[in-house]
Amino acid sequence: MDRRQFIRFVPLVALASSAFAQQDEVDPKSPTAIALGYSTDHSRVDTTRWSKKGQDVQGQQRCQTCALFTSTDNGNGICSIFAGRQVAGNGWCNAWTRR
Ligand code: SF4
Repeated sequence: MDRRQFIRFVPLVALASSAFAQQDEVDPKSPTAIALGYSTDHSRVDTTRWSKKGQDVQGQQRCQTCALFTSTDNGNGICSIFAGRQVAGNGWCNAWTRR
């Protein structure tokens, strides 16, 4: 591969890997995420709508403390409720279950 080909190739690889990474993340606007009240930031959950989170006065309910969360090396993790897709470690949904 010559220099000119390399310069064309690298941005394509970066774009493809970026698209793949985004595809793996749970979209908070997807129907399942909306139904479960998933947010990427547990502190921004509407506690008037999601009373379970409203009872969490110490802010301990978040993906990182959930039994359904498997941590990955970037602080986020995989959630079994969302078919093994990636969720924010600081996120929350109404399926939160104490470890
Ligand atoms: S089930 Fe647990 S890990 Fe999955 S999104 Fe809800 S709070 Fe986060």
